[in-house]
Amino acid sequence: MSLGSPHIMVRIIMIGESGVGKSNLLTRFARDEFHIDNKSTLGMEMTTKTITLPTGEICQSQIWDTAGQERFKSLAISYFRGAKGAVLVYDVTNRHSLESAREWLAEFRKYADVDAVVILVGNKCDLTSNREVETREGVEFAKQEKLLFIEASAKDSINVEQAFIEVLGRITDNTS
Ligand code: GDP
Ligand code: MG
Repeated sequence: MSLGSPHIMVRIIMIGESGVGKSNLLTRFARDEFHIDNKSTLGMEMTTKTITLPTGEICQSQIWDTAGQERFKSLAISYFRGAKGAVLVYDVTNRHSLESAREWLAEFRKYADVDAVVILVGNKCDLTSNREVETREGVEFAKQEKLLFIEASAKDSINVEQAFIEVLGRITDNTS
């Protein structure tokens, strides 16, 4: 860290259906870890990571991971308030998770900052033979809803860091 660099603090939230890979995207980004087992997140968990943005600015991110189950939705909503951005995840091998992403986006937009930035992430792109959602469908959804978009794999470390850097970088552009 160089002295005198501005420190920007940004709070974002992981949202999307249970099982799409939110927790693994976050552990891959924050600690370069992947967990094969399906341990669900209980309530809300926070992870912090300091990154250097392409602009050279140092960004301290605070990333909240939600449990996707309905019973936790009301809990998640209280974390939407004032959030600067969200990583909205679906699973490219599960069409239902894309429909669910629409609902999560609607909930998020009700409570978050009006200028909050959302990146749509089509996770599990390593599972090529099980794919149910084509890339162009993700692109189209993101275009309609004015979201950033990327396909990623927490398992194979594809585009994970890029996803977080894109959303954090865009938030920082908006606030500076
Ligand atoms: P969450 O409920 O959205 O937090 O999802 P998890 O991160 O707990 O992941 C759910 C399951 O999907 C776990 O068994 C993970 O090992 C698996 N998983 C997560 N990301 C990937 C990925 O990119 N590729 C593959 N093949 N499996 C993944
Ligand atoms: Mg989880």
